[in-house]
Amino acid sequence: MKVFKFGGASVKDATSVKNAVEILKGFKGEKLLVVISAMGKTTNALEKVVNDYFFSKGNAHTSLKEVRDYHQQIMEELFSEKTNPVFDKVNNFFVEADWMLDEKPQHTYSFVYDQIVSLGELISTCIVSAYLEQQGCSNIWLDVRDVLMTDNTYREAKVDWQKSEMLVQKQVVPVFNRVDVIITQGFIGGTSENYTTTLGREGSDYTAAIFAYLLDAEAMYIWKDVPGVLNADPKFYKDAQKLDQISYHDAIELAYYGATVIHPKTIKPLENKNIPLYVKSFLKPEANGTAIRTNVQTKPLIPSYIFKNNQVLISIAAKDFSFIAEDNLSRIFALFAGHGVKINLMQNSAISFSVCVDNDSFKIPALIEALQKDYKIRYNEDLMLYTIRHYYQNTIDAITSGKEILLEQRSRNTAQFVLRESVK
Ligand code: ASP
Ligand code: MG
Repeated sequence: MKVFKFGGASVKDATSVKNAVEILKGFKGEKLLVVISAMGKTTNALEKVVNDYFFSKGNAHTSLKEVRDYHQQIMEELFSEKTNPVFDKVNNFFVEADWMLDEKPQHTYSFVYDQIVSLGELISTCIVSAYLEQQGCSNIWLDVRDVLMTDNTYREAKVDWQKSEMLVQKQVVPVFNRVDVIITQGFIGGTSENYTTTLGREGSDYTAAIFAYLLDAEAMYIWKDVPGVLNADPKFYKDAQKLDQISYHDAIELAYYGATVIHPKTIKPLENKNIPLYVKSFLKPEANGTAIRTNVQTKPLIPSYIFKNNQVLISIAAKDFSFIAEDNLSRIFALFAGHGVKINLMQNSAISFSVCVDNDSFKIPALIEALQKDYKIRYNEDLMLYTIRHYYQNTIDAITSGKEILLEQRSRNTAQFVLRESVK
């Protein structure tokens, strides 16, 4: 049994859906649980619907119609028979959403968000499932909300592993006796009161990992528009190269430092059951991609680079020049947590504590104001944070050359630099 995940880009139009279905056909005879995201940029478009509705910003019905037209066009290209039941199924989702938009919002923003944004995955999976069927591959469309149970933390729901395990054993495992392919939604889950939840943006990788874990899959595959996991974002680094294999540990570290290729929560469930993860290109499915699994180390280790722009370095000192010690630190951390600011890098000396964070234009001014009540604050904006995992001196020299280093930190495997473009 394998678990596949197809992201939004792999099903963004009719041609892409056909391509994804070709990939599935290539695994004929195998048991596959296929997790699919919303098509293309549908999640963003549905977020706009939610904002129009909740904040009465624009016309939510009009915004929803755009989402509807986009899917309608894809369906018209895929299904020549206008009597195919998929047209009705998809239409019903939109009709229900329109009804909801007719009412005044009764619940919290996050609740409303999840009920509307989840449409993207429900619809994409209906379309792919129907097209697969039309191509002669019988499959079952599974409503993930019946088996992937969560709490009711809307927009960031926590998985109830025990309940989900039980439901997957009862409702998913037996289905594989009847069909080879199950199609289901990424990113969303259900509560015990039958409401829809979401697991956080880009959460479909995580959904696939949950299923791989619960079903003891032999492997999980993520199909992407890149050849695999690269050692840097090619937008920032022209010599980016594909990594043939990396360890779970490296994958977690790369995600932690900000590499966006795999959702950070994805690796742990796989590592716990030693399930390999293959990241492969949906444009070149026969190519090798990247294998993520236990204890692989290619020697010499290939450096990976993570670049973050728009950083701010905040230096915090006591007003009376006393030491910044534990009692101060716990107050400072509480302020960061209270303002929802994630620390990217920190360093302390006797009288000051320096922190590098993303320069969020809402959170940071408020945080600085709060800190200024008790501390002397200095800060520098427009900085870059470069992280190199498996660094060598020459790699450091290459990426820091021509830049001013404001702060640096090295551990055995990872070097980090807060940098500013030097003024010439
Ligand atoms: N469609 C969701 C999003 O764009 C989930 C995902 O793509 O993984 O955030
Ligand atoms: Mg998506």
